[in-house]
Amino acid sequence: MDLKKRIERFKELEYEFNKDFYIKLKEGQNPHTLFIACSDSRVEAETLLQAKAGEIFHIRNVANIVPREEEPDTHPSVVSAIEYAVKILKVKNIIVCGHSNCGGCSAIRNPEGKKELLPYTWEWISQSISISDYINHKYPEMKEEDKAIMLEKLNAVQQLDNLMTYDFVRQAVESGELNLQAYYYDIGTGSISVYNYDSIFSDIIKEITSSRKLFLEQE
Ligand SMILES: [Zn+2]
Repeated sequence: MDLKKRIERFKELEYEFNKDFYIKLKEGQNPHTLFIACSDSRVEAETLLQAKAGEIFHIRNVANIVPREEEPDTHPSVVSAIEYAVKILKVKNIIVCGHSNCGGCSAIRNPEGKKELLPYTWEWISQSISISDYINHKYPEMKEEDKAIMLEKLNAVQQLDNLMTYDFVRQAVESGELNLQAYYYDIGTGSISVYNYDSIFSDIIKEITSSRKLFLEQE
C-alpha cells in the first residue's frame, strides 16, 4: 500500500472511529514514559508497551545512545528531548531499549570500513566502542555471537549511567520521581529482559565508564 493511501486510511478508519480520543489529544500531552530506542524499524514502543498516542515521549537514534554529559561533542538533540521530558513533562520513567540483531551494535563489533562508508554513523556509535573493547578484553574465549548479544545488552544498561551524568536526571531519580530501566528486546522471541540501574551489570558499567574516562583524558 502506498503512503498516500495509508494516510487516507488513517483519517477514514482510525481517526473517524476514535474521533473523541484524537480531539482530546489537542488539550496537551501527558506521557508517563520517555522511551529511548534504536532507530531500527522493528523496535516499536507503542506495540511493546501496549500504549496509545500521548503516552510515550520518544527519542530514537542508531543504537539507542545517550551522550554523556562530559563528552566534548555532546549531541544536543538527544539531551534536549531528555531535558524536556524530565523537567517539563515530568515523565515517571525513562526506558532505554536495546534489541537483538542491532545493526548499530554489529557495526561496533565489525568496524572494518565503517568509518569510510558511514562516517556520521561511525562517529555516533563510537561512543559505545569502550563497551565492545571491554567485552573483548574480559571474555576473550566467548563466541562472537554471544559477544554481540552482550554488547547489545550492556550498551542499553550503559545508557542509564550516561543519563545519570545529567544533574536534572540524577536529582529526579534520587528524589524518587523518576525511574530508570533498560530493556533488552529479543525480536524473534518477543521476550523483553528488564534491567534496573543497579542491576547485575552495574559493576561492569562502572569499569567501562572509568576506562572511557581514562581514554578521553588521554585523547
Ligand atoms: Zn539497533
